[in-house]
Amino acid sequence: MTLGPPTVTGQVHFDSHVTTTVAVAAAFVNALATAEAGGRPVALPAGPEQVRARAERALLEAGARRAEVDADQAAGLQRLAGRLREVFAALDDGREDDAAGVLNVLLAQSGARPHLHRHPPAPWHLHFHLPEAGPVEGWTAGCATGLAHVLGSEHAGRLGTCAAPACERVFVDISRNGSRRFCNTACQNRVKAATHRARSGR
Ligand SMILES: [Zn+2]
Repeated sequence: MTLGPPTVTGQVHFDSHVTTTVAVAAAFVNALATAEAGGRPVALPAGPEQVRARAERALLEAGARRAEVDADQAAGLQRLAGRLREVFAALDDGREDDAAGVLNVLLAQSGARPHLHRHPPAPWHLHFHLPEAGPVEGWTAGCATGLAHVLGSEHAGRLGTCAAPACERVFVDISRNGSRRFCNTACQNRVKAATHRARSGR
C-alpha cells in the first residue's frame, strides 16, 4: 500500500506545531522588529515594559499556549525578532542561502532538539526544545525549526514580506494558490487605490 499526500482542499496545512511556530515567528517580527507598517513609521517601544507587552501580545495573537514573559526575556525575544527579520528579508530578495545560514546559526545557538511532549488531555506532539527551556531558548528553537521546515519544503515561497510601499510587515501565506503579496487587505487596497489614481491621471 502506498500512502499519498493528504488531499488538500483549501489552505496549505503544515504540521500544527510548525504552523504555530511560523505564526509566532511572523508575529515577533511584526511586533518587535518592524520600522514601517501600513504606510507609516512604527513608534519604537518606549522602554522595556512596552517591549514586554508587545512580545506577550504577539504570542497571544499567534495562538501560543503561554504568553507570560518578563522584561529580560522580552529583550531576548526582540533580539530573536531581529534575526528572524533577516530570514524573511533574505527570502524576499531571493537569497535562500543567506536565510538558511541565519536559521542554522539560530538552531545551533538555541540547542534545538526534538522532544515529544504532552499537555493532557491533548495527544502527544513534537516540540523542538526540552520542557525546561525558557521562553527565549524555546522560541528561538521553535521559530528557527518551524521556518527551517518551511524553507526546506516546496512551500519556501510562502514566507513573504508586504509588497506595499512603507510596509515591512511579514506574513505566512496559507492561501490555496500561494499568491498573497500584502500583509492585510488595508495594504492591498492602498496599493489598488494608488494604481487606480495613477491610471486615471489624478
Ligand atoms: Zn503591509
